Amino acid sequence: MASIRRPLSPAHQSRSYQNGGSPFEVHSPTHKLLSGSSYSSNSPYFGALAVGFRRLLAEIFLPRYSRKGHPRWKRLLYLLLLCFVLGFGLGLTSFGDVDDMGRHDLTYVIKPSTLNVQRGLGDTVGKEKVVLETVNQGLETMSGVDPVDLIPPKQLIIVTPTYNRPLQAFYLNRLGQALRLVRPPLLWIVVEMNSASTETAEILRNAGVMYRHLVCSKNMTNIEDRGVHQRNRAMEHIEHHHLDGIVYFADDDNIYSLELFESMREIRRFGTWPVAMLAQNKNKAILEGPVCNGSQVIGWHTNEKSKRLRRFHVDMSGFAFNSTILWDRRRWHRPISEPIRQPDMVKEGFQESMFIEQVVEDESQMEAISLGCSRVMNWHLHLESRSHVYPKGWMLQKNLDVDVLK
Ligand code: UDP
Ligand code: MN
Repeated sequence: MASIRRPLSPAHQSRSYQNGGSPFEVHSPTHKLLSGSSYSSNSPYFGALAVGFRRLLAEIFLPRYSRKGHPRWKRLLYLLLLCFVLGFGLGLTSFGDVDDMGRHDLTYVIKPSTLNVQRGLGDTVGKEKVVLETVNQGLETMSGVDPVDLIPPKQLIIVTPTYNRPLQAFYLNRLGQALRLVRPPLLWIVVEMNSASTETAEILRNAGVMYRHLVCSKNMTNIEDRGVHQRNRAMEHIEHHHLDGIVYFADDDNIYSLELFESMREIRRFGTWPVAMLAQNKNKAILEGPVCNGSQVIGWHTNEKSKRLRRFHVDMSGFAFNSTILWDRRRWHRPISEPIRQPDMVKEGFQESMFIEQVVEDESQMEAISLGCSRVMNWHLHLESRSHVYPKGWMLQKNLDVDVLK
């Protein structure tokens, strides 16, 4: 570019500025760069470069130049050239720390576990090993977080059959508020018979939990079915949409601790734990569920003689399983036959056992969840009250009583 090499005009050299110096006479590190003199004394190359650069700036910023035959577009062109030079220079500059950080973050997020495993390998070849070591060092110093913590928690799919009755709002609100405290991701599938009631819909809307409100349109044949068809409707939904997570049948009237939900996340195939059963008219709690040796199930707690013939002594709220068993049988080496569903019309108390027989072959395919076998984490209540009168939807249309103030 001819104009860059052109010397400054005499008019410019003699021009005096109000502050008494040249326009670039600023006492800052950039001043040296702009003046060029400090470089020219060391190397003729840097000197020439600095002079050229100074002239380029003068071409752009000195209004006098544009008046003297340099049209505006030329100044714009110079400005663009300057930006290009600066950008190019910045691009070549190595910001070691920033670059490292970016690389660490990426590797960290994509394959945390592989990194850790590979670090343990003593025979990793030369350069590759160095790279991995560097990345790992960066991870430890940068974040101080265990890579395992960055693996997203397993989704929980909580299935709840429900129906309108005096205590429904109490039960559903209580369960909803417990679920709200569970770490996401959690999907609450609530199923009603025949139609979705406004009462249930309202509670779900305000629960602050991700939910699906389903309807089971099958005719009830037996009052003893107690939610079986509704749970089956939920399983049909999970199967159809290939929902991936741990399925848990949480009836609306039971009590659940937060640690129970968190423990379920460690289940690989089928997990089980003991449940305390509290009956209204009995004066003791009955325990039902596995006897464990570490994570192995080695026997069953049961107190009810009438149910001795069951294969597995587990309550409906005492087990959870991987949802893929419902829609990916090959993965679990299960025969592909009928869909896995809860049986209806079976003797009371045998439902759970007959369902579990479709999911696992025996105890060797079960896992006792780590906290569960030594501690009760949920309670099955029998405190039903179907006969009480209550305001519909828990809305007060008119005063039920009159308070007379004296
Ligand atoms: N349930 C239902 N419709 C019914 C009876 C029960 O949706 O007609 C639901 C109920 O809300 C609960 C579950 O099924 O979530 C189990 O019912 P219940 O507590 O009466 O049975 P139990 O605990 O005695 O097995
Ligand atoms: Mn119940």
